Amino acid sequence: MSQKLFRNLRLVNSEFTGSEAKRAFIVEAGLITWMGSQNQIPKKLKPKKEFDLKNNLVFPSFIECHTHTVFAGSRAQEFEMRNQGVSYLEIAERGGGILSTVQATRATSAKSLTALTQKRVNNFLAQGVSTLEIKSGYGLDLKNEIKVLQVIKNLKGPRIISTFLGAHAKPAEFKTHEDYLQYLVTTVLPVVKKKKLSDRVDIFIENKFFEKSASQKYLEAAKKLGFAVTIHANQLSFSEGADLALELSAHSADHVIHLNENHIKAFAKSKTVAVLLPAADLYMRCAYPSARKLIDAGATVALATDFNPGSCPTQDLALVGLLARLEMKMSLPEVFKAYTSGAAQALGVSDAEGQLLVGKSANFISTAAELNDFFYSAGSTPKHQLFIRGNEIKSTIIARD
Ligand SMILES: [Zn+2]
Repeated sequence: MSQKLFRNLRLVNSEFTGSEAKRAFIVEAGLITWMGSQNQIPKKLKPKKEFDLKNNLVFPSFIECHTHTVFAGSRAQEFEMRNQGVSYLEIAERGGGILSTVQATRATSAKSLTALTQKRVNNFLAQGVSTLEIKSGYGLDLKNEIKVLQVIKNLKGPRIISTFLGAHAKPAEFKTHEDYLQYLVTTVLPVVKKKKLSDRVDIFIENKFFEKSASQKYLEAAKKLGFAVTIHANQLSFSEGADLALELSAHSADHVIHLNENHIKAFAKSKTVAVLLPAADLYMRCAYPSARKLIDAGATVALATDFNPGSCPTQDLALVGLLARLEMKMSLPEVFKAYTSGAAQALGVSDAEGQLLVGKSANFISTAAELNDFFYSAGSTPKHQLFIRGNEIKSTIIARD
């Protein structure tokens, strides 16, 4: 197996509080197999290729752990309506909201959806994202959910983790939320499993949407089929989604704006990650989640965009980090950890990703900029090179259109 040597790099420490110069590592089959001082590379190692990183800073590349990247249509007009005082409910009654994206996505072929989505994936890649989570949830029937999951499977660039979010909203064809969840369990989940299209299930738990008891049955059935669980929880109210995530040892509970002191303590004791989505909170004019309380109590937090056509039409990681710093009082090292090791834990991929250690994937960013230059200027990422499993992602791939 051919070895690659990366040397002359300033390796950022695991807390993102400093770096050590003149470090080196060896990559074999995409994994880091040796790491240390560049003056002490063991003689038995015979790398075929050498990369001089010119005293650049090196740290784990970003993991974007919550997006709804596959969709057709636009909700831009709806944003203006909301801003002019039309309520979410009225917009839904006029044919807007999630169900309008469902209609547009159902009407679009897999080929067109793939082309639309690949451009968005490239936008994430260009910001240093090496692992990207994408949810289904704008198909809402067997044919269209499978179509969307197959689109996700065919995307190129970063490692893609796909999540089945059939339980995003109740489609018009079903009378009750319970009937629809039953349909997902009996008709859709077994096909997702059989075709190996996803091994994670997500649900939007909120009053008057999917409520706790029906959601619990659904998620328990999904777990029995072998799916890991994640939940859109406590975004608009104390919906009990966070309670359920903690009870079921979900990978993550996402949004978590409405939390009490007991929730905070329970997150601190559990492995369930609190995924914070401040750009969505900005667009929705919601309160921001209590990042400080969660982190100070010892909970693991992650940050993500929640990119979607309705409540968060931005893919800007810099804006997310900036809001976390400005509005949630997270320190810069905490933002980096949330976007690397925290996000890896939220996706259940900590064994391979989120940190640069022997045995883990060589997914990293190399840059002449300093850490302070990141999560500072909304809309811009400092110049950098992205490596995924030790391979440089060339700008030609990123820019392809
Ligand atoms: Zn979401």
